[in-house]
Amino acid sequence: MALVTTKEILLKAQEGNYAVGAFNVENMEMVMAVIAAAEELNAPVIMQTTPSTVKYAGLDFYLANVAAAAKKSKVPVAMHLDHGSSFDLAMQALRAGYTSIMIDGSHSVFEENIEITKRVVDACKPSLIPVEAELGKVGGKEDDLDGGSGGYTDPLEAKEFVEKTNVDSLAVAIGTAHGVYDGIPKLDLNRLSEIKNVVSVPLVLHGASGLSEEAIKESINRGICKVNFATELRIAYTDGIKNTLSENPELIDPKKYGKSAMENVKELVKNRIEMCGSVNRA
Ligand SMILES: [Zn+2]
Repeated sequence: MALVTTKEILLKAQEGNYAVGAFNVENMEMVMAVIAAAEELNAPVIMQTTPSTVKYAGLDFYLANVAAAAKKSKVPVAMHLDHGSSFDLAMQALRAGYTSIMIDGSHSVFEENIEITKRVVDACKPSLIPVEAELGKVGGKEDDLDGGSGGYTDPLEAKEFVEKTNVDSLAVAIGTAHGVYDGIPKLDLNRLSEIKNVVSVPLVLHGASGLSEEAIKESINRGICKVNFATELRIAYTDGIKNTLSENPELIDPKKYGKSAMENVKELVKNRIEMCGSVNRA
């Protein structure tokens, strides 16, 4: 089917008390692996690219891959700009045909975050493309992102932010970080419940790679409707290639090691879809 927006699948998830997995894809093989996992489990799925991924191959390349995968698929697929870093990039993604846009103004002060988010929301509204924003800082480092040590989302600020921007979903900072964790992160789940009590739009969890299954499930229980997975997919993909090449150093066919990399990513994504509770929700 044609690409869907995140608005329809996230509102459905919110109603059903489950989450939709959002997977960062870097190339064609990762797109193929994610769609294969979603198909097998009959689950809705979001594929997304960060600005540094977009810089690598361009919005059009990624969108074409994901749209082609979606077209042949029976499950709903959305294409999302992850951590949109400027108004211009958000507009480029909108024009390219992305069906969901994140504008990340979390590094700015509160009022400026409201201002840029509202600008993007207003610009996306005529095309009915939903917008995700972030309030508070998800810590850690990945690509060009640097959340530093983070800064948790304040529930009352979240309420004001959503009312003033009309944003469609909100990424919250409750103790997760991007990249690989050093120890076991401690999530502020009470804060998440407090935010959920005063904010009606679907909430988003970033930095889920490396969280325990229990932590992810409890977050979903308390209102998370979209869970982002990036780092783990990179590791699974690269491990697949490394292992195949170390066993067969004479291999020169990219299809051969691509296949085992895809298999690795597919298994991981299936597991994460199960954690999200979105099996058979297509
Ligand atoms: Zn993120």
